[in-house]
Amino acid sequence: MEFSSQLQKSNIRWYLLGILLAVELLMSFSFLGYFHVEPISITTAYIPVLLAGTLMGPLESTVLGFAFGLASMWKASASYVMATDQLFSPIMSGNPVGSILLSVGARTLFGLMIGFLYLGARRLRWKGWGVAVVTYLGPTIHACLVYTFLWIFFPLAGYRPIDGLADFFAPAEVVANLAIAGLVLLLWRMEQSRIWRQFLTRVTTAHRLQLTERYHSLSLILIVVVTVCSSVAVAFYFVHRMDYVLTQRGMDLTGDGYVNLLHLQIQFLVGILSLMALVIFFLIFNRRYATYTNYEARTDSLTGVMNRRAFFQICTKVLDGMEEQGGSTGYFIMMDIDWFKEINDSYGHPEGDRALKEAARSLRDIFDSDGLIGRVGGDEFAVLLYPSISREELEVGLRHLMERIHNIRWEGHRLSCSIGALPVARRQAVEELYRDADQLLYTAKEAGRDRYIIGTY
Ligand code: GH3
Ligand code: MG
Repeated sequence: MEFSSQLQKSNIRWYLLGILLAVELLMSFSFLGYFHVEPISITTAYIPVLLAGTLMGPLESTVLGFAFGLASMWKASASYVMATDQLFSPIMSGNPVGSILLSVGARTLFGLMIGFLYLGARRLRWKGWGVAVVTYLGPTIHACLVYTFLWIFFPLAGYRPIDGLADFFAPAEVVANLAIAGLVLLLWRMEQSRIWRQFLTRVTTAHRLQLTERYHSLSLILIVVVTVCSSVAVAFYFVHRMDYVLTQRGMDLTGDGYVNLLHLQIQFLVGILSLMALVIFFLIFNRRYATYTNYEARTDSLTGVMNRRAFFQICTKVLDGMEEQGGSTGYFIMMDIDWFKEINDSYGHPEGDRALKEAARSLRDIFDSDGLIGRVGGDEFAVLLYPSISREELEVGLRHLMERIHNIRWEGHRLSCSIGALPVARRQAVEELYRDADQLLYTAKEAGRDRYIIGTY
C-alpha cells in the first residue's frame, strides 16, 4: 500500500535534497569523491546524483547533476590543475561557453538522463535489477557524455565519444561499478523498508507536534549569515597567514600562487560548511524523533499502542497541523472486537488479554508506519491515518486487518472485529471524529458484526 505517498510531498523531500547536495559538495571537494591510488583512479563524486535519481526523481537528479558540474567547474578553474582539466574551466580554456556546457551542461544532462532511466527502471517488473543495471551503467553514461561534449567543444583535444567506453571492462572499473551499484541498491531498498517509512512518519508527525514551537526565522537567517561570513573571514585570514609564513621561510608566493591557495581554501570552506549542514540535518531529525518517542512513551502497558489520553492529545496536534499544512486527507478508524466478553467468560481473562495483544500487533503491523494507533477502550482501538490515501487503499488495509484478526483462534473459534472508518478532510476535532466513527462502528455491529463500514462527508 502506498500510504507513504503523502510523505513524498512533505518537506522531508527538501531535507533529503539538502542532504544529497551537502554530500555532493563534500565528496566533490575531498578525497571521498576521487580515489586515486596509482595506477587506479576512480570517481565516486556522482554517487549522490545516482541516489537522487533512485530515491527521488529526474528533477532532483538534474539539480544534483548541476551542483556536481558547478563543483567540477570550480575545481578546474585554477592554474595548478592539469591542462586537460582546465578545459572544464570557462576562465582557463579560452572557450568559456564550451567549458560551461562541458562541466555544468554535461553533468546536468547526465542527472536528467539518469533520473529518467531510473524512472523507467522502477516501472519494470524486476525493479531491483533495473535499478542495479542503470546504476552500473551510470559511470559509463557519465563518461560518454563528458567525452562527447569534449569532442564537440574541444575537438583539438582529440577525444571521441567512444572513449567513454575505454575502461568498461577494466577490472578496477568493474569492481568500482559493482560496488557503487551495490551501495545504491542497498540504500534504495532501505528507503522502501518498513523501518525507514516508520521513521519518516514519526519525524513528520513530530513536525506537526512541534508546530507551536517554530524556529524563530530571523535568528535562523542571522546565524547562517554570521556563520558563512565568519568562515569566509577565517579562510582569507588563513591564506594571508600562510603567505606570511611561506615568505618568512624564503618561499615568496607569486600573485598566482596566492590565488591558488585562496582557491583551495574556498574549497575547504565549502567542504566544511557542507559537513556542518549535514550535522544540522542530523540534529533536526534527531530532535524530531525524540519529540515523537516522547509522546509515544505514553503507551498502554498491555498492548503497546498509545493509551487513550496520549492518543487524543497527539491526534489533536496532528489534526491542527493538517490544517496548517493545507489539509491533507486521511482516515479515522474505530475498531472493536466482536463478542469479546464471551472470550473472557469462556477462556479466562489471560486469554482475553492475549487476544487484545494480538489484535494490537495486527494494527501496528498494518498501520503503524502510516498513522497513530491508540487503545481507547477495553477492546476498542482507534487509528488516525493521515497520509492521503484512496478509499481503495484503505479497504485493502481493512481487509488485511480483518484477515489478521480472523487468524486469532481458539479451538474452532475465530476472532472477528467490527470497524467504522471516516475520511478526515475538513476542519474537525478528534472528539467529533471519534463520535462519528463510533456511530459507524455501532452500525457495523448492528448489521451483524465482522465487517467494516466506511462513512462519507
Ligand atoms: P460486541 O461485539 O458488542 O463488542 O460485544 P463484546 O462482548 O465485545 O462487548 P464489549 O465490547 O462491550 O466488551 C468489552 C469487554 O472487554 C468488557 C470487559 O470485560 C473486557 N475488557 C476490558 N478491558 C479488558 C482487559 O484489559 N483484558 C481483558 N481480558 N478483558 C477486558
Ligand atoms: Mg467488543
